[in-house]
Amino acid sequence: MPEDCVFCMIRDGEIPSDILHRDQYCFVIRDINPVAPTHLLVIPLEHFEYLAELVSDFDQTVAAMLSAARDMASAEGVSGSGYRLMLNQGRDGGQEVPHIHLHVMGGRHLGGFGIPSERTS
Ligand code: AMP
Ligand code: ZN
Repeated sequence: MPEDCVFCMIRDGEIPSDILHRDQYCFVIRDINPVAPTHLLVIPLEHFEYLAELVSDFDQTVAAMLSAARDMASAEGVSGSGYRLMLNQGRDGGQEVPHIHLHVMGGRHLGGFGIPSERTS
């Protein structure tokens, strides 16, 4: 794991952050620069950059991440109105933080397919 990975540092409490959920495989925080009223990040505890690098506990980790996304969307009150899950991979996918994470965005209409074009803050 890189020494300077921001999500590893949040996981380890080296950067203060409100952790909304944590289980054996993943944790959830609010995105620091939200594009929607609800914008959460579901992050695996284990550091890896690409889905292809996830070899141990693949099924359990992916299931835990989707389960956390579903439960947090419900807790945020956006299950009924709908939300978007997004997982960026690599340069062309627009990935900025090289520790894989699932975006959970909702609370406003996000428009058509793709990356929401407007940030709310
Ligand atoms: P991506 O482009 O998929 O890699 O998304 C990275 C996301 O991480 C962006 O939406 C950032 O706003 C978010 N982010 C970066 N640093 C932090 C942080 N310290 N706490 C919360 N979210 C962060
Ligand atoms: Zn990391």
